[in-house]
Amino acid sequence: MVHVQGLRCRECGREYDIAPLYTCEWCFGPLEVAYDYDAIRNSVSREKIAAGPLSLWRYADLLPVEADAAVNLGTGFTPLVKADRLAAALGLGEVWVKNDTRNPTNSFKDRVVSIALSKALEFGFKVAACASTGNLANAVAAHAAHAGLRSYVFIPANLEQGKVVTTAVYGGNVVAINGTYDDVNRLCAELAGVYEWAFVNVNMRPFYAEGSKTLAFETAEQLGWQTPDHVVVPAASGSLVTKIHKGFDELHKVGLLDDPPRVRVSGAQALGCSPIAQAFLDGSDNIRPVKPDTIAKSLAIGNPADGYFALDVARSTGGAFAAVSDGEIVEGMRLLAQTEGIFAETAGGVTIATLKQLAADGVIRPDERVVVYITGHGLKTLEAVSSQCGPTATIAPTLEAFHEAFDVEES
Ligand SMILES: [Zn+2]
Repeated sequence: MVHVQGLRCRECGREYDIAPLYTCEWCFGPLEVAYDYDAIRNSVSREKIAAGPLSLWRYADLLPVEADAAVNLGTGFTPLVKADRLAAALGLGEVWVKNDTRNPTNSFKDRVVSIALSKALEFGFKVAACASTGNLANAVAAHAAHAGLRSYVFIPANLEQGKVVTTAVYGGNVVAINGTYDDVNRLCAELAGVYEWAFVNVNMRPFYAEGSKTLAFETAEQLGWQTPDHVVVPAASGSLVTKIHKGFDELHKVGLLDDPPRVRVSGAQALGCSPIAQAFLDGSDNIRPVKPDTIAKSLAIGNPADGYFALDVARSTGGAFAAVSDGEIVEGMRLLAQTEGIFAETAGGVTIATLKQLAADGVIRPDERVVVYITGHGLKTLEAVSSQCGPTATIAPTLEAFHEAFDVEES
């Protein structure tokens, strides 16, 4: 049962019927799904959710699609891992890692694509498309294959091989563009005006973006229906920052959380593409577009669509934004791997390095319960660490050679 009233403009509040629309025709503001929260409150309960599937579809009451018609690869309900060794390394108290590398195509983008393509089928689309920095390409190609849709994914031509191969293998069309993600995105907005396709992050965006809320839902449920004090979220378009914040609020609105959440939300960016972090540090509302130059390609959006809203979330919740260098990103990837056994892509390195920086600055405190969102798997961006990670030694297959290379006591 879908408890949706329609679409609503985030700027002027005008309402629209449910349709593949994304911009308000009066003020050009972004459209968002509007829910009937009273109806959801009457329908949802902690017990009903606990009895649901071990995927994001356990929160179907809070999503804008019919779960029984969903494109379902088993996305979501990923592990929330207590990270005591990481916390100790950073001088923090309680840190948890939401490990979204464990989704079907190994990134959180499976969440948004599950919702977008389920809705695309409802609307009767035959072709799925997207502009992507890599992870979205993987997720769209896989879900389109599963749903029997044709697909066109558009990517910058300089993407990591690990993301191109893991998209092309699903058999759709992969179009590499000689340009930045922002160029790719602009082309897709033009194509969306010409072809009747479901562009997941253009005309399906209001529905697509709702998938990110499930990261907040799962976090609260996995903490025993409590909220963290502080979350650290990687920011590309800024949408994930706003939707995780919205997710915690909705849980309270529909009666699943007893107290109004007071979650401080901090955003993580790479120094080589940090328009939101820069505006935060400048104390400005003006997000100046940049030309990305960072190894964190999945976060390399120079003109972030939801940047202003993400900035507002960080400021209004008492969070912060920080930007970290490519060297710090690689250190962050290795720190997470070596303390917790979780291999994250470069975006995860950005998140861990930001956690480290905000902890050192005293913004994140040792008395806070912190959740960090690890959104993609390290196998997607092997290039970032491959020059630093190889065999400890290469030896002949003899005891003697081993003893020569390793001075370890026999036990
Ligand atoms: Zn409007």
